Amino acid sequence: MSAQYYANRILSWPDGDTFVEVSEGIDAADPGRMGIKYPHLHEGWAFDDPVEAAEAGIKIANAWSQDKPDLEIGITAQGQLAGEMGMRADDDMNEGDVMAWAQKRKDIMPKCAYCGDLIGEVTYYNSDFISDDRYDKEFCAEQAYSEWLMDNEEEE
Ligand SMILES: [Zn+2]
Repeated sequence: MSAQYYANRILSWPDGDTFVEVSEGIDAADPGRMGIKYPHLHEGWAFDDPVEAAEAGIKIANAWSQDKPDLEIGITAQGQLAGEMGMRADDDMNEGDVMAWAQKRKDIMPKCAYCGDLIGEVTYYNSDFISDDRYDKEFCAEQAYSEWLMDNEEEE
C-alpha cells in the first residue's frame, strides 16, 4: 500500500495565513484544513499520483484567488519523508516548487512492469511464472504472461 496525496485549502492558526497544501497522506496535512469548496477541482480527493494532486492544488489555488481577490493565497507541499513530519509548511514554495516536489515523489514510486503506470492501492503479481515483477492491473499481468509464453516458445 502506498501513501495517497491530497490537495486542501488551509486557514492556518493563529496567523490566519491562507494557502493550498498538497500533502502526502492526510496525517501530514495542516490541522487548519478547510471544508471542501471546489469538489469539481478534486479538492479533498485521495490521489495515487502526487503530480495529479499538485496539478489539482494549483487549480484550487487559482479558483480560490479569483473568488477571494483580497486574500493572499499561497501554495505549499507537505510530506512524510525524514525531516518533513511535524514541520510547518514552507511559506516560500511556489507552483514550480510544488510540481518539482510531486515529480520527485512520483519518480521513486513503484511502477507497473508492463505499462509503466503507477501502482496504486492494489498490486498484481503473476503466479504463473516466477518473477518479482509487479503490475497495476490484472490485464498487465496477463499480457506480461502471454509475452513470456511467446518468448519461451521461440527459444525451443
Ligand atoms: Zn500496467
